[in-house]
Amino acid sequence: MRNKIVAGNWKMNNTLEQGVTLASEIVNMVANELTDDVKMVLCTPYIHLSSVSKIIGDAEKISLGAQNCNDNLKGAYTGEISVDMLKSVGVEYVILGHSERREYYGESNEFLAGKVNTVIEAGLTPIFCCGETLETRERGAHFDFVTNQLTESLFHLSVENFSKIVIAYEPIWAIGTGVTASKEQAQEMHEKLRAHIAKKYGTEIADGTSILYGGSCNPKNAADLFAQKDIDGGLIGGASLKSRDFVDIGKSY
Ligand code: PEP
Repeated sequence: MRNKIVAGNWKMNNTLEQGVTLASEIVNMVANELTDDVKMVLCTPYIHLSSVSKIIGDAEKISLGAQNCNDNLKGAYTGEISVDMLKSVGVEYVILGHSERREYYGESNEFLAGKVNTVIEAGLTPIFCCGETLETRERGAHFDFVTNQLTESLFHLSVENFSKIVIAYEPIWAIGTGVTASKEQAQEMHEKLRAHIAKKYGTEIADGTSILYGGSCNPKNAADLFAQKDIDGGLIGGASLKSRDFVDIGKSY
């Protein structure tokens, strides 16, 4: 049985005070309302991690995540954050390869393969993002493009290490646009990705890999998306900044 995960990517939003309020609201709502076997993950800005970690405490259904890390373990990398620093404040998950990092910071599939290694070796769980542009979809190259992202960034991993990965399929045209992939479009891609994983690592590993959907997911469309057989939860941007919406998405199974 693969894990159901709903992760919130706060991106570069919220002062520390606002982040503490948001996290406190989410932790309380989850404790009182979330009955299903879903893991909620709060991927906050670095500066919030330590405070949010204390708010989460030992809450069972919520974990802490980061939105990025450096690929080196330590040293002269001004302004960067290492995996050991993340671990020291209780981080368990790290988003890697978000399309905004690929686009604005030039992160390539090859570069991300190195970051994936660093994160796994530290004992953290990568949430590896993949997804195509609208132009790529319109010329019918989306399946090849996205499966290739997995091949180039993840398929060097051993079976044991691959089984530690969480994947998030995020069509770029759906991120922050209010346009969600239809449940059929999302399911079709998730199925392709699972088949691609099965070809390399076998059915058992593919069946155990959590593949999340991301892209304008909200409390209204989450239930339809999560009902698809290959969709194991969501990576949520805008709607993760509202406690009520985020928790309602978590309750959409
Ligand atoms: C994201 O950026 O990971 C994301 C899914 O954003 P949104 O939910 O706002 O589309």
